[in-house]
Amino acid sequence: MRATGSAQQMAAVLTAALEAGIWHIETAPAYGPAERFLGQALRTLQQRHPQRHGQLVVTSKLLPGVSLETGQRQLREILERLGLERLHNLAVHGLNRPEHLHWATAGPGAELLRWAQGEGLVGQVGFSSHGSTALIEQALASGRFAFCSLHLHLFDPTRLPLARAALAQGIGVLAISPADKGGRLYDPPAMLQADCAPFAPLELAYRFLLDQGISTLSLGAAQPSDLALAAAIAGPSAAPGPWLNAAQRAALERLTGAGQGRLGAERCGQCRACLPCPNGVPIPELLRLRNLAVGHGLQAFAEERYNLIGRAGHWWEEHNASACGRCGDCLPRCPLQLPIPELLADTHRRLAAPPRRRLWG
Ligand code: SF4
Ligand code: SF4
Repeated sequence: MRATGSAQQMAAVLTAALEAGIWHIETAPAYGPAERFLGQALRTLQQRHPQRHGQLVVTSKLLPGVSLETGQRQLREILERLGLERLHNLAVHGLNRPEHLHWATAGPGAELLRWAQGEGLVGQVGFSSHGSTALIEQALASGRFAFCSLHLHLFDPTRLPLARAALAQGIGVLAISPADKGGRLYDPPAMLQADCAPFAPLELAYRFLLDQGISTLSLGAAQPSDLALAAAIAGPSAAPGPWLNAAQRAALERLTGAGQGRLGAERCGQCRACLPCPNGVPIPELLRLRNLAVGHGLQAFAEERYNLIGRAGHWWEEHNASACGRCGDCLPRCPLQLPIPELLADTHRRLAAPPRRRLWG
C-alpha cells in the first residue's frame, strides 16, 4: 500500500521483506499503482528465485457493491497485474456497513466469491472491516470467510475479543497497520518513548499482538528500513514465541500505569455503555483519542484521526465532538460517572484543527 513511489521502491521492499522472513504480501487495486509495481517485482522474483516465489502468499481485495460481471473483470485484472494464475486470498475490501455484508453473503458478491473459488482463481475468501463490532460478529458467524483483517492495536484493543473468537473458529486474523493506524508508532513522541523504555513502542505493539495469537501483522512498509524491526523481532530462527518476555510485560504494565496516572479520573474505560447518543456522537472513539493525547502524548496521531472525521465516508466516524447537544442522556449510563459533555468539549479544543487560512478571497 505504501511502496508506491516507483517499481524500484516496490522491488526493494519485496526483497527486504523476503530477507526479513516475511512471506505474506497484501495489496489492493485501491492502492494506486501498488498491484502493477508488485506484479513487476513478483515476475522478476519468479524468474530469479522460482522456489521463493512459490512460497509467497498473496492477498488482494475487491471493494464491495459491484455487479457479478464487474467483479469478475476486476478479479481477472488483479491476477493479470500480479502475474498470478491464482490468488491465495481474496478479501472484501471494507466490509464496513450492513449492505456490504449483504452484498458478500447474499448478493452479487456471494455469487462472485463462489465463482472465483469454483474457477480455482482464489484460494480462500475473507474481508477487511473498519465497521462495528456487531457487523464483524455477523460476518464471522456467516461461515463464509476464512480470514479477516481488523483494527487491533496495543492502544485500541476493543476488537481483541472478536479476534480471539475468530481464531478459535480457525479464521485467520490480520492486524491492520499496527505501526500507522495503531498510533503512528514509527514516529513516537518523547513521552511514549520514555514510558516504553528500554523498548521501542512499535516493538511492544508488535509483540503485544503476536502474544495475543494474531496470525498476521500488516507492516505497511514504504521502504526497506521499515522492516528492520520486524526482522529483528523474528530473529534468525523465526521460532514462534514467546513473544513477550518478563521485561517487555513489565514495560507494558508501566506504560498502562503511566497513561492511567496522567488521565486520572478523566480516563474513559472504553466500555461503550454510554451509547447510543441521539446525535450520533461516537463517544468512546472520541474519548479514546483524548486518552491517547493526554495519557500517552499521541497528540499528532489523535489530531490526524480527529480531523479525518466526516471526511472518510464509511471508513471512519461521521460526527465529531461538536455534535454533542449536551442532552445528558449518556451521563447515567457511564459506570465511571465521567462528565462526558465536558470531556467531549475538551477533546474538540485539544484536537480540532484550526480553520485553514484561505489562499484566495
Ligand atoms: S450529552 Fe452529548 S454525547 Fe451525551 S448523549 Fe447527549 S448529545 Fe450525546
Ligand atoms: S460509558 Fe463512560 S467509560 Fe464507558 S465508553 Fe462511555 S464514556 Fe467511556
